Amino acid sequence: MRVNATGRVLHDPKGGSFRFDAGAVCLDFAHTGGEGQYAIFETLHEPADLAEWLAQPPPAAVMTATVTARELTTAKVLRQAIWDAAHARAARRPLPAEAVATINRAATAAPLIPELAADGTTAGWAPPVRATQALSTLAREMIELLSGPLSERIRECASDNCPLVFVDTSRPGARRWCAMERCGNRHKLRALRARQAMEP
Ligand SMILES: [Zn+2]
Repeated sequence: MRVNATGRVLHDPKGGSFRFDAGAVCLDFAHTGGEGQYAIFETLHEPADLAEWLAQPPPAAVMTATVTARELTTAKVLRQAIWDAAHARAARRPLPAEAVATINRAATAAPLIPELAADGTTAGWAPPVRATQALSTLAREMIELLSGPLSERIRECASDNCPLVFVDTSRPGARRWCAMERCGNRHKLRALRARQAMEP
C-alpha cells in the first residue's frame, strides 16, 4: 500500500470496525465524528485527539506545537462544512453558502509546507507544524476536489441508510459502497435472500 494511501479504520459505537477509504484526506477527515445524531461517532474529544489523527498518514503531520482548544473547535466547524458540501455535491444540490464560506476561511491560513529530506528521496512537513496549517491544507484539498474533475465522482454510499460519502478515484468509476465488507456484502446478502425467497 502507498504510504500516502487515504482511508482510516472507523469504529461503530455498537462495536465492530471497518476500513473506510473516502478517497481524499479531507473526506476521511469528515468522518471523524459529527454533530447531532452523528455525535455518537465523535472521535475528536480533545485537542490531543486531533493531533493524533493528523499525525497518521496521510497527512502524517506531526504537530510541533500543541493543538489548542480553539483549533479543535475550528476543526469541527471545518469538518461539518466539508461533510455538508460533499453531501450537497453528491446529491447534485447547490453547496450551502455557509459551508463554502467556512472552507474558504480555513484555506486562508498558511498550509503545511512540504520539505524534502537531505537525501532527496522522502519528504515531510517543514516545522513549525501547527493544526491551523493542517486544516488549511484539508480545506484547500476540498476546494480542489469540488472544483476539479473528480467533483462529479463525489458520492454517498448506495446503501439506503448509510450516509458515508467518498470520492470515487477508481479508473472505471463504478464504486458504489463505502466499504465492500460493510455495505457491499450486506447488499449482496440481501439480494441473495430475495432471490432465494422467490424460488419455489
Ligand atoms: Zn455504506
